[in-house]
Order: sequence, then structure tokens, then C-alpha cells
Amino acid sequence: MRGGREAEASAAQAAIQAVLRPLAFAARDDFAHADRVRDLESSVERAAARAARGSVPPELRKALRGVRDAFRSELSGAERRAAVEHALALLRPFADTGYAARVLAQPPSVLPGLGPRRAELLAKRGIRTVEDLLFRLPTAYDDRRSLETVASLDVGRHVTFAARVLGSGFSGWRGRGGRGGRMFEAVVGDETGTVELKWFRGGETLERTVRKGALLLVTGDVKRYRFAKEIQHPEVEVLAEPGEEDAPAAAEADAPADAPRRIVPSYAAPEGLHPRALRRAVARAVADYADLVTGRLPESLVAARRLPTPGEALRALHAPGPDADPEALAAARTPAHERLILEELYLLELGLALRRDRIARAPGPPIRVDGPRLRAALRALPFALTGAQQRAWRAIAADLARPHPMSRLLEGDVGSGKTVVAYLAAVAVAESGHQTALMAPTELLAEQHFRTLRRLVGGGTLWVELLTASATAGHAESVRAGLAAGEIDVAVGTHALLQESVGFRSRGLVVVDEQHRFGVRQRAALRGAGEGGAQPHTLVMTATPIPRTLAMTLHGDLDLTVIDELPPGRHPVRTLLLRAGEGKEVARLLRETAARGEQVYVVYPLIEESEKSDLRAASESAERIAAAFPDLRVDLVHGRLDAVSRHEVMQRFERGETQVLVSTTVVEVGVDVANATLMIVEHAERFGLAQLHQLRGRVGRGRRPGTCVLVARGTGEGSEARLAAMLETTDGFAIADADLRIRGPGEFLGTRQHGRLPDLRIADLVRDRRWLGVARDAAREALARDPGLRRDLPLRDAVRARWGEALDLSEVG
Ligand code: ADP
Ligand code: MG
Repeated sequence: MRGGREAEASAAQAAIQAVLRPLAFAARDDFAHADRVRDLESSVERAAARAARGSVPPELRKALRGVRDAFRSELSGAERRAAVEHALALLRPFADTGYAARVLAQPPSVLPGLGPRRAELLAKRGIRTVEDLLFRLPTAYDDRRSLETVASLDVGRHVTFAARVLGSGFSGWRGRGGRGGRMFEAVVGDETGTVELKWFRGGETLERTVRKGALLLVTGDVKRYRFAKEIQHPEVEVLAEPGEEDAPAAAEADAPADAPRRIVPSYAAPEGLHPRALRRAVARAVADYADLVTGRLPESLVAARRLPTPGEALRALHAPGPDADPEALAAARTPAHERLILEELYLLELGLALRRDRIARAPGPPIRVDGPRLRAALRALPFALTGAQQRAWRAIAADLARPHPMSRLLEGDVGSGKTVVAYLAAVAVAESGHQTALMAPTELLAEQHFRTLRRLVGGGTLWVELLTASATAGHAESVRAGLAAGEIDVAVGTHALLQESVGFRSRGLVVVDEQHRFGVRQRAALRGAGEGGAQPHTLVMTATPIPRTLAMTLHGDLDLTVIDELPPGRHPVRTLLLRAGEGKEVARLLRETAARGEQVYVVYPLIEESEKSDLRAASESAERIAAAFPDLRVDLVHGRLDAVSRHEVMQRFERGETQVLVSTTVVEVGVDVANATLMIVEHAERFGLAQLHQLRGRVGRGRRPGTCVLVARGTGEGSEARLAAMLETTDGFAIADADLRIRGPGEFLGTRQHGRLPDLRIADLVRDRRWLGVARDAAREALARDPGLRRDLPLRDAVRARWGEALDLSEVG
């Protein structure tokens, strides 16, 4: 199987095959054709010499050189036969496909210079094999190419250069006026010349490092002393100890050891291991093992993007040549990075796609999507669907109609109209005799969805109920009974809906809103064991602005639909930034808005530790506004209000009975009052960018233009950048990119997506997101060609070995 796909062999395996091919041909039919193979000697010799030049283990190199030497000269019949048999015997241990994997799985202690103690230090950092070491890329590069040569050092300049110590020691000096003393001197030089270094003090501490043969990096001011140049009290750093070669890889092993003008990789070494020792060990690993690494990317992709082999890529990153671009290296933007990162992302995307395919093959309830009840619901909608909503609905309808569970992510900016699409799905599911569970992360949001659905249902036939922890016992009881009997079509609630006490007669669809807190694994639990073996359809809705390519991987086991269009007549929300002391302007906007009969939100941040004081700020503000505008009705809502009072407050605002709603962030999600057109965010500097974007999305939801006033009362880390981004754009994806830029990849993914995806070795989902789509397309194509990767077991095994546990792929294939 394996030999059938050249792309899967490592460079070393391919090179061995190139030697074996003519040998095997000559040996065929008991050497019947051996005499007729033309140029056998020269082709075997050339192939073996070439293979021996690769980054392969010493024992393999030795065998290849043995083969090369056996075919150095023209051979007669019997000699030929003996040489072929000898060569085949030499190469036999290396020819089997498991060889590379076995060798790469050896502990790093097989490398010279890494004893058991150092190997243990590495193991603590997760480096347990030679392969781990190969894939521990440099954290930085030190560009020493522009170092000056000793001959070019100009008197009077401050310079940095590298040179070997040719000799050093103490000597006496005598100056004018009879002064004198002891000084430490060293003569250092490179291939262009020599220069003297002098220390009139502190020589004792230098004596041990500035020794004959050591390679130094020297920085100091060049002076003239009689006919020579000298540098007094330079700073020195030892680049290499005496006798230590400074060239990192065998590729450079023949280069003069005195050639320090190159780009030097540096590694994050564990404590107790000298960075230089680690660098040398990695260099050894690269020189002896890099070409054993097997590439998994499809050959067409490698060709189209002109990617280097994994071995070439490893050499380029661990031992960059003199023409390398240090900036591109530091930014992970070289073809070598591209190869290794794509390799890693490809396996990840294959894992995600395998998982998705497995789910897609499970039985699911087929749903009728052209029934009269659905058509009536479409006709009764209070508005025409936008083009984007229509596309989303078509994709969902096609999924529902299949006898397999849907797994779809519906992504759309705040207010883009996702709920309507979910509603249509629920109607279709009900028409086919199944039920829908709609889950929101908070009770408030569940209540909001409930109201939205009720409004859409109008006098229609869909029976929707709300089931939350704050429901009265009697109500909860009757809802449970209605669900068990199959009378209720849609239950809206929080994740409590998944509890066993809530028994649906036939749950056909699970809709999860704003579910960004859930990862691949949690989603499996959420889908739950379906009734009668059939798994319900799943629709995940999110407005979380995360860059699209990133979303595709974080939700890589879902199909993606994006609603990228807002309902017509929406105006982008005007955004203003005001500072403390501009309260008059805020009051003016509030008065004007109320005078037009429109409503206002005032939002205060809520910070866990100071909940009370923030609540105080919100209530004081409510009182102040009520006092300043006696004709306006002002209400206050916050998280510690009980559900009934909270519901009443929200209803008063929704019905337009109150004009101003002061709150502590609870309107962030789920409030939908088209007549609210002014959003005042107090202490805007304390909110995250995603939150600000969500808050702003609460206004401008109707035909009247909305205004968002960000009141900054202080300044914090990154806050000015966040506020600037809010003024610059209203586009959710642009906001997401800005968020990423401001917070940095670590925090952007770290806090919010924590636990979503297992550790990547080289790739960074944020930095490398432009390659995510490439890897994903390649993975999907590979699976379309070969479902379950049944015809490429080595590839499937590689995916399993890397991601099997993390993605729960045990049953895949
Ligand atoms: P989302 O959940 O994506 O934030 P919603 O589904 O809550 O958005 O819709 C936002 C508002 O826009 C709601 O008031 C909804 O009734 C309205 N709406 C949705 N689709 C349309 C449309 N095609 N035309 C006009 N208004 C719409
Ligand atoms: Mg919504």
C-alpha cells in the first residue's frame, strides 16, 4: 500500500528506493538479466552517493557508502552478482517502511552530546524523541552575517565582529610618568586579519573564557595603537568554546569553522541545559535525521505551492543558509514554514473532517421541507428574507431533508436575522412530527428568544414554551408533560434543557445560540444520544466575531453558513466617543432621542469583584436621569434582579412604556427593541471589543438610524486601541481582526477558546490562519476522493496518531 504513493515516502526512503530499483532489476529471475542491465555500476554508484549526502543516520550513510564503493568500477558477471548481493544485504535493514518511524521515535539521548541527564531535562519540556527535537523550531534568529571582518574595522568606530582567540594572557604595561601595572590581553582574528583586545582591569574573570581557540563576539571602540588597531575593554560573548565547531548542520560541517557570518538559530532551552548545547544537539538531529521525516501533504498541493520537502524545510529553519531572510524566518513566513505548518494543519483538518463525516453517516430524522405548514409560515413572515437568509435557509433545508444529522454553524453579525432561520427549521421539524430544543447561554437570552419566536409564530400553529430554572414548579411540570407527550413543538431554555428530567418525545433539532463556549468535545455530549438511535440535527448560531478561517477550524467539524447581509433599511450605527466631562453632550443626545419618541439604553460595566459598587453606579445613574428628565420613565435592570421582576422591566421597555433602560451589561445579548436607537456605554474603556460590538448591535435594528455613545472615563491597556477600532468600523469581521491584533493571538484564543483544540506543534491558528483554508480544502478533497481514508492507511494512521485522542476519532473509519 505504502510503496504505491511516492508522496508519502520520506526523502530518505525515496533515495533508498532509487538505489534499490536497479539492484532489484539486476537480481530478478536469479540474475538472468544481470549482464544486460546497462550502466548498472554508474547508476547505482550515483544513486547511492546521492542518498548518502542526505540528512540520514550514520549507519544508513555507512551502508550507502558501502554500496557506492562496491560499484565504483566496471564489474564482470560474477563480480556484478556478488556486488548486487552485497548491496542488497547492506540496505536490507533500511528498506522496510517502518524504519524511519522507528528511528525518529528514539530518545534524543542517541544524539552525541545529549546524555541521560540532558535528555531528562528535554523530556520535561515534552521532547521525548528525535522527532520532537526536530520539530522544536528556533524561537529567534540571530543575524550575524553583517558582522564586520577584522580587516575592515575602522579606527574611531564602534563595532561588533566575531573572531577566534589566537592567544591571550597577562602582561605588564608601563605608561608615561612611570605608571604601570598588569593587564590582560588577547589577540583575536579571522581570515582577514588580527586585532588586539586589552583589559586593564578585571582580567582575572576573563581568563577562563577568553582562551586560545574560543570564538568571540566582540563589541567596542576601535583605537589606533602605534601601527596596529586595538580595542580596550570590549564586551565579549563566547560564541563557541575552543575546539567546538560552530557550524550547526552537517551540510555546513565542511564549512570553515571560523565562518561565523551566518544566521544563527536560538532555542528556548530548559533550565540546566546550555542553549548552545541544545543548538548543537538539534543541528546533529537535523544532519542525521531530517530526511527521514515523511510528508503527508498531497503531491499536487506540494507541486502547486512549490513546497520544499520536510527535510529541506527542517534544514532551512534550523540551519538557514546565508541567503535566508531573517525577517521572514522570524515571522514564520518562509516556504519552509509553509511546508511544516501545512503538514500539521492538514492532519488536523483531516481529523476534524473525519469526525464530521462520521457524524454525517449516522442516522438522523429526515425532515420534510416543502410541507404546507412550512409554506404557510414562510408566507406569514412579517418581512421578506434577505438574500443571505435565503441562502442559509436553503442550506439548512437541504441538510434537514437528508436521513443523517445536520451539523451546521450559522454565523452572522448581531441583528443579521439568524433567529428567523432557526424558526423556519423548527417549523419544518414540527411538521415532520419532531421537536426542537433551543438553547441559550443565559436565562435572559432564552427569554428573549422565546419572545422573538412567539412574535414570529403569531397566531400560527407552532407551540413554543419557555423552560428555565426560574419557571414556577407548576409551569415547569406542565411543560415537561407537554414535551413528553409530543404536544409542545419547541422548548426554549438554557442548557438545563439537556437534563434527563426533560424528556422530549422526539427531539429532532437542537439549536444552540451564542455557543462559543463549547468545543468539539462538549458538542458531542450536547448532541446526546438520539431517540431510537437517530441523532438530532444540530444548528449552532453564533455572532461571536472571530475571523472566518479561524471559525472554520474551531468549528471544523461543522459545516459553515454565513449570513453576511443585514436586513434592508438598516443604517450603520453612528459611533461617538466622549470623555468624562462631556456629560452635557450625552444629556443632549438623550433628550433629542426621547423627543423623537425613541428609546435609550444606558449600560454600565459589571466587574465581578466590585459588583456592588457598579450596581450603585447604575442605580445612581438611573436616579440622576429620572431627576433630570422628569417626563421620562426610567427603569433599571441588573443580574441580581429575580426573573419575574427582570421580565417585567424588559417587557415595559419592549412595549415602550419606559424610555430609558439603565442596566449592567445584561442587554449585551438578546434584547431586540427596534425603537431603541441610542446606546450609551458608560466606562467604555472597561469593555472588551467583542462586548462593545454586541452592545452597539442593540441599536439601529429598525428603520431608524442608531447612535452609540462610548463614554470613556479612564484609560487602560489597549482601551484606546479598542475604542479607535469601534470608531473605525461597524463590520464584525473587521472588529474581530482588530481584537486579535490588540489582544494578541495568545489571549484571543487562550481565554475564550481555552480547551477547544489540543496543542499544535508548530502552527499558530491565528498567525497562520491564511494557511488554514488551504489545509482544510486539501483535507476535504482527500476525503472526497477516499472516504474514511480507507485506501491510504498510513495517512489515516498518521491522523489517528496525532489527533485520535483529542478529537475522539476512535470509531472513525
Ligand atoms: P440575530 O439573532 O442574528 O442577532 P435576529 O434574528 O434577532 O438577529 O433579528 C434581528 C432583528 O431583525 C429582529 O427584530 C428581526 O425580526 C429582524 N429581521 C430579521 N430578518 C429580517 C428581514 N429579512 N427583514 C427585516 N427585518 C428582519
Ligand atoms: Mg439573536
